[in-house]
Amino acid sequence: MEDKLDDKAFRFCLGCSHPLAGVTEARCPECGRTFDPLDERSTASSPYPVRRVLARIGKAAIGCMAVAAVGLALVNAWGGAWFLMEFMLAFMCAPVATVSVGFALIPRIPLSARWRMAAFAAPLLIASVLLTGWPFRLVFELHRGRLDAAVREIEAGNIDVPAGRMRIGMLTIVAIEQTPGGNLGFQLSGNRGGGVFLVHPSPHGTFLWFNTNWTESLGDGWWRVEQD
Ligand SMILES: [Zn+2]
Repeated sequence: MEDKLDDKAFRFCLGCSHPLAGVTEARCPECGRTFDPLDERSTASSPYPVRRVLARIGKAAIGCMAVAAVGLALVNAWGGAWFLMEFMLAFMCAPVATVSVGFALIPRIPLSARWRMAAFAAPLLIASVLLTGWPFRLVFELHRGRLDAAVREIEAGNIDVPAGRMRIGMLTIVAIEQTPGGNLGFQLSGNRGGGVFLVHPSPHGTFLWFNTNWTESLGDGWWRVEQD
């Protein structure tokens, strides 16, 4: 009990903001309000109520950013997202990111080191996903061998193209289509009118894919493209 109260050296009474440093019983010597030394919610992190409110707003903003960062990484890993959409989602997070980083930079707002680190980690994760697309690159590298095997099956005539929905590992392929030159497209999202494809070019291909908005080389012949 004594040790726990010592941990509360920088805690304050919720009732009158009296500092609880050195207090040896679970009761405020100033106003008599009781508290539980084991429960942070029964004491205050700052003697200033405004700072406590700011800390609560800061934690909410940091929590939102953490959820947004993990969500963006998962959407990117899926691979079928139009990548401008990812930028727009990140752009919409900008005001919340500003609040969370800004509050974390103000020492007077009572936030723990863990919350302050999360305030910087979430925007860094978002930036890394947008700049490098590493979640999908990782998923693609895990599936490159199986996709190459699917290409060989198609070339051997064991799978007819166009083909419908199928799973290749964790990837859900909506359809498989082909250009007149024989380039194969494994569709990750969209419908017959367009979407995101993984394209494997044939030696006879004259163009990479139909109506591409963007193309991204994945190395060793594979591309990711968006058909408009
Ligand atoms: Zn008190």
